[in-house]
Amino acid sequence: MKLVFIGPPGIGKGTYAKMLNQRYGIPHISTGDIFREEIAKGTELGLKVKQYVEKGLLVPDEVVIEVVKKVLQSPMCSKGFILDGFPRTLRQAEELDKIVKIDVAFLFEAPVEVIVERVSGRLVCPKCGAIYNISWKPPKTPGICDVCGTPLIRRKDDEPEVVRERYKIYKQTFAPVIEYYRGKGVLIEIDAARDATLVVADVERILIEKGLIVKT
Ligand SMILES: [Zn+2]
Repeated sequence: MKLVFIGPPGIGKGTYAKMLNQRYGIPHISTGDIFREEIAKGTELGLKVKQYVEKGLLVPDEVVIEVVKKVLQSPMCSKGFILDGFPRTLRQAEELDKIVKIDVAFLFEAPVEVIVERVSGRLVCPKCGAIYNISWKPPKTPGICDVCGTPLIRRKDDEPEVVRERYKIYKQTFAPVIEYYRGKGVLIEIDAARDATLVVADVERILIEKGLIVKT
């Protein structure tokens, strides 16, 4: 199954992809993760990407397309993939079509205040990277990491005003991509203002209906 996940930052695309990956072994391809890895490894691509990221600029379409093309044609993606964070421009969507036919583009939606509430409860450990949530996964001692005892912090990206701003940018950026997939008849909207297990159950039901997975 060849899927594209679209949705605002903080809506939980990574969580949904991870749950599907565990059940069906379909790789979760996040361009953001790939770029971070390449930068960390200091590869030629990493150095190229770093120039843009450091200046706070978007990585140009041709670079992103080149990377995605390489990944999608690798053995890892022989049974399919979940693309996350790509395509983010009309040109990227059109180029992707030339490489591979997308089965479904899932659009995860929730009111911005639902996302604000969800991520504002998130706390991370700056030392070991453990993630907590005040509402549903609190640390044993408030504000302290269970794993290593370090005081927990809230990421800058999780601050309400940052979340609202990123949501606005997302809406503007992805509108043409969403319309593109709607026009192709492969866009399916999912209500993501619910528990992740319900969201993923919806995705699975649709994939079964379309004959892309067999019920496990
Ligand atoms: Zn820790």
